[in-house]
Amino acid sequence: MRSRPVIGEVVAAQQPEWKSHPDYVASRAALAAAPALVTAAEVARLRGALAVVAGGGARMVQLGDCAESFAETGADHVRAKTAVLHALAGELADDGPVLRVGRIGGQFAKPRSQPFEDVDGVPLPAFRGHMVNGEAPTAEARAHDPRRMVRAYEASAEVLRVLARDRDRRAAVPAKRLERFPDGPWASHDALVIDYEAALVRDQAGQRVLGSTHLPWLGDRTRAPGSAHVRLLSQVANPVALKLGPSTDPAELAEVCALLDPDRTPGRLTLIARMGAERVAELLPPLVAAVRARGHRAVWLSDPMHGNTVRAGGVKTRHLAAVVDEAVRCKSVLERAGEHPGGLHLEVAATDVTECLGGKVDGVERLAERYTTLCDPRLNPDQAAELLRTWIRA
Ligand code: PEP
Ligand code: MN
Repeated sequence: MRSRPVIGEVVAAQQPEWKSHPDYVASRAALAAAPALVTAAEVARLRGALAVVAGGGARMVQLGDCAESFAETGADHVRAKTAVLHALAGELADDGPVLRVGRIGGQFAKPRSQPFEDVDGVPLPAFRGHMVNGEAPTAEARAHDPRRMVRAYEASAEVLRVLARDRDRRAAVPAKRLERFPDGPWASHDALVIDYEAALVRDQAGQRVLGSTHLPWLGDRTRAPGSAHVRLLSQVANPVALKLGPSTDPAELAEVCALLDPDRTPGRLTLIARMGAERVAELLPPLVAAVRARGHRAVWLSDPMHGNTVRAGGVKTRHLAAVVDEAVRCKSVLERAGEHPGGLHLEVAATDVTECLGGKVDGVERLAERYTTLCDPRLNPDQAAELLRTWIRA
């Protein structure tokens, strides 16, 4: 994995090393010939809903696995995940409609801060998500394999069919709120692997659509104004989200917002602050001011997890208390700045995992009980519900 290869004039960070693989060309060709996984009409409905959130008329939750697994894309798994998404959205529903977006149906590629990890003294390529390699700690599993892009497409198609059935079922429920507001569930993922994402751009109904997902986001490591990722997403009609970490510079953020939202369309941008509980109050206000001064009407979310990762008991974990702290502080920064706190972006499992500390996971020794994540530690549904209840009341 080269850290910053160059495509034309622009930089593409975090890309797999697989261009010399014998199946690279055929894998890309298979994707290029495949139908889009989402429609222009779905994307338009989501854009409408995001405009409502940006205008203060609704809240939003965006949540799911850190990394989805190819082994969990069957209908039973997906229904369990959407059930948790709906239950957690319900924690905010007293206030009004809640837009429901999963980290689902394509969340198969992970940016990593270290390209290698040490396994018993042997350096192995880091796990990059099932679109790129396998998680088993062997050289074979960790080799980058472009055929995995085709499997990721097929797995995503399976998941997205279940989401579409769920939306149809919900639309048929004669509740006023649902008739007027297309609340999902919609799909989102980190649009990280350029080979995959670029091969799925389609012209549909007079629009250019990123066919891989409804709401692509760019991670903290790939959102620079000169990146291939920003260039790709600037060309599509899908709404776009950006993760904003502690290194985000206000002028650079203004530049990337101008590239992605030149028409100042409300809800085109979703900006997700992930600063760490200690720093959000200091770092977020200048970013909010810079975005607003340039006339963008963004959805503002808090990701209170990625800035609060610690090691304990030999694993990566997060303290629910720190997560709650960042989410609540972020809300108060936004309110003081006159912005609508749109909601939360979370890593949550559909099952009762023991990956983060807090609630019933009341000691480091409990982390090993059900620590099953492929990548970062997720909240279990009870921990996430406690967070949302505290956040909405704060
Ligand atoms: C993630 O959401 O899993 C992630 C890696 O986030 P970030 O890009 O904010 O670090
Ligand atoms: Mn993560």
